[in-house]
Amino acid sequence: MCAFSLQFSIKPVQVCNSCNANVLGFDHHCPSFENCIGQKNHLMFMILIIGFLAVEATYTICSTYCEQ
Ligand SMILES: [Zn+2]
Repeated sequence: MCAFSLQFSIKPVQVCNSCNANVLGFDHHCPSFENCIGQKNHLMFMILIIGFLAVEATYTICSTYCEQ
């Protein structure tokens, strides 16, 4: 997947080896959520990752510069 243009190559249907399911637009199997990341939930997965990065960046900045 290209991080700048948010374009990724999608294979139409692929079998997940972890849960043995056919997934449309399969990207990967997420062990944290025990769920496949495919075409239907890929946008929500990207929003989750960007949210995690924003929280971690905020924590790092505040812990560095906001100490009294
Ligand atoms: Zn899976």
